Amino acid sequence: MFSTPDSSAPAAAPTAAYFDNAATTPLDPEVLETMLPFMREHFGNPSSIHGHGRKVRAAIENARKTIAHLINASPAEITFTSGGTEGDNYAAFGSVRQLGVQHAITSPLEHHAVLHTLQALEKNGYVQLSYVRHDERGRLDLEHLDQLLAAQPRTFVSLMHANNEIGNLNDIQTIGDICARHEAVFHTDTVQTMGHYRIDVQQLKNHFLVGSAHKFHGPKGVGFLYRRSGVQASPLIHGGAQERNVRAGTENVYGIVGLAKALEIACSQMADHQRYIQGLKDRFIARLTAEIDDVDFNGHSAVTDQSLYTVLNVSLPPSEMNEMLLFNLDINHVSVSGGSACSSGANTGSHVLTALGCDPGRGAIRFSMSKYNTEAEVDFAVEQLAKMYRKVSA
Ligand code: PLP
Repeated sequence: MFSTPDSSAPAAAPTAAYFDNAATTPLDPEVLETMLPFMREHFGNPSSIHGHGRKVRAAIENARKTIAHLINASPAEITFTSGGTEGDNYAAFGSVRQLGVQHAITSPLEHHAVLHTLQALEKNGYVQLSYVRHDERGRLDLEHLDQLLAAQPRTFVSLMHANNEIGNLNDIQTIGDICARHEAVFHTDTVQTMGHYRIDVQQLKNHFLVGSAHKFHGPKGVGFLYRRSGVQASPLIHGGAQERNVRAGTENVYGIVGLAKALEIACSQMADHQRYIQGLKDRFIARLTAEIDDVDFNGHSAVTDQSLYTVLNVSLPPSEMNEMLLFNLDINHVSVSGGSACSSGANTGSHVLTALGCDPGRGAIRFSMSKYNTEAEVDFAVEQLAKMYRKVSA
């Protein structure tokens, strides 16, 4: 286990567990320490030309350099945003407005930050939208992508690096190569992989990518957009000249400082975190399989080299327990995300599981882990679940 805000306490058997780190992660105390001076003494407006302002401006520019360095970009290619959603919107709207794109391609498995943005552009007549086919485990059909691109010039392609619900990793290297062959604009949502995998934009052929600090132990409400040098930009938010006239509004200074620190920590300890968290995931898989009959895993989430090591999407057998699954876990102090494939009434369910054709009769839970989780918490969470679904033979 890695040090946590309360890790000085002696290790007692857990009575609660947080396994919703794909939704958001706890702030790293070291990140908070880096942010605090910018909430207290360094309060100047970075656009002010006096000393108070200049000090804060320098901190923003240092953060930009740090992030650029960590993804092998140049500082001018980094724009600070309010998070992943804004970056996704920027890439899509920017491509339509500045790059003359008339056709867009995505997949039904994308996050709503991409899907709803492109659907809004389609609804308003800006683009014609096509979806790449995928199989029942969520693997994208890249031959179909190739065919779609061959049929449509001047296309915007948005395909994520890793799926936030089922954890599937997409081969963004190959997708970038296909897009480049057809001179398409390629955006990839790297919200779930930033800080968890090495990202080197010199190895990729993407025009845009996005990061969001709260997914790697940074603060909420801050992220960044990478826009490859030479790709034209028009602002989504109009006003002052901040962020080189691309994103108006006084900068979220302590957020930006925290974002850079969080990414720095994540990248410097990445291999250790990956090994540790993959161990937790393997333990989840082994224990769930041992304790519960007919357990399965949605997408490729149980396949080590094809899924995020932080995400495990569990498919539970048909049972009357499924209705109250999340509620029951919650009252037993286990925080997770759900999302059955059910799409009736007010329960709109998970669009990802629905697209995969998952059986609506089965329960679904996403366990998502971080460096702060422990094996004892895994055991605790499995025990709470097993109480509901224990094997008849056990
Ligand atoms: N894209 C993906 C894949 C995500 O998982 C999320 C958040 O869950 C977002 C975009 C939105 O990011 P933010 O919360 O920073 O707006």
